[in-house]
This record gives sequence, C-alpha cells and structure tokens, in this order.
Amino acid sequence: MSQLQAILNYQKIDEELYALERELSSSKERKEYVQAKKFLMSAAEKLDLLDVKAKQLEGEVAALAKKAAEAEETLKDFSNVDELMENGADVAFYKKNALALLEQFKKLKASLNALIATINATDEEYKKLKKQVLTMQKQYKEAQEKYAAVKDSREEERQAIEARLKEAKKDVSPETMERYLNKRKEKIFPVVGQLHDKRCPYCGMEPPLAAVNKLTAGSTIECDSCHRILYGE
Ligand SMILES: [Zn+2]
Repeated sequence: MSQLQAILNYQKIDEELYALERELSSSKERKEYVQAKKFLMSAAEKLDLLDVKAKQLEGEVAALAKKAAEAEETLKDFSNVDELMENGADVAFYKKNALALLEQFKKLKASLNALIATINATDEEYKKLKKQVLTMQKQYKEAQEKYAAVKDSREEERQAIEARLKEAKKDVSPETMERYLNKRKEKIFPVVGQLHDKRCPYCGMEPPLAAVNKLTAGSTIECDSCHRILYGE
C-alpha cells in the first residue's frame, strides 16, 4: 500500500473521531462549563482588584485620621485663650485661626463622608460579587459533571475509533504519521489530500509549478493557503 493510500485510510477513520470531538466541543454542556469557568476566573480577578481598592481606602482612612488628630492638636491652643486674652493677646489673630480651623474641619467632614460612601459602595460590590461567585461555583460544578457525563457517554465510541486508528496506523510510516498528527493538533481537517488538476482539493489554490514538478511518488508539499499536506496526482 502506498503512503498516500495508507494515510488516506487513516484519515477516513480519523474523520469520525474529528466529528466526535467537534460534537463534544460544541455541546451545550461544554459551553456552560466553559462559561462558568470564565466567569469564575474573571470574578477572581475582580475580587483581587477590590482587595487592592480596600487596602487603598484603608490608607485614606488613616490619612484622614491623621489630619483630624492634627486639627485637634491645634484646637488645644484655644483651651487657655481666656488667659491669653487677659494678658493682652490679639483677638483678631485667634479669630482668624479659629475660622481657619473651622474650615479645615468642614473639609475633613466632607472628605470623611465621601470616603464612607466609597467604602460602602466597595463593600456592596464585594458582597454582591462574592454571592455571584458562590452561585456560579455551584453551577460550575454541575456543568463540569454534566460535561464529564456527556464525554463518558461517548467514551466507548471514541475508544472503538481509536482502536481502528491504531490498526490503520500500522501501514503509515512514522514520519508521515508525525506530520499528520502535528497538523491535526492545529485543528486542520482534513489534513492530507491529493492535488487535483494541479490544485489543492480543499481550497482550490494552485501551488507553484516548480514545487509541483518536484513532487515524486510519496513526497508531499504544503498548501500555501490552507496549509494542508498535499500529495502529487
Ligand atoms: Zn489548500
């Protein structure tokens, strides 16, 4: 049997395996499984980002607390203001300071309110996402089991095809097999073919004449367009 014949035989059986694989990968069970997996992965990223944000907010709280403490410290200057006044201190100076301090407290209060709102919103977002993750984890597990069950249901069929492939492989040289399987991994199918009217039988592209002329029985070229392995006519 020629290598061309041998690999075409192999490919004919492999077509059944390819179809089975396609059915499994396009099944609604797999889609649900992949979807749940994707959600969980992106949720994990989002939770990480929220953790970073929480740390940042913690920092902002600390900075605000420091400012408040400083303002409080300044406030202490007013505790003995009576005494200072008696000793002839400038009222205008203390009044100005008191007003500046009042302004500072107003700003602190506004910053604190804004920060509380942000913290609450972040906390809300975190809780909501956590809840979604818990629900999705359950769905993911179910989808995973369902998809595994679908695969299991086709396992016997797959093994039967594999056994036939193993048998057909005996007629194929190791080099031819390796090239075939490498292409197959790239999800190209059918993998091999024979030139027809000097054209690729799959995409219709005409390979360079020089390459075609070099083709001898058993040698192959690769289609420039669809990258399939081509035997001469
Ligand atoms: Zn082609």
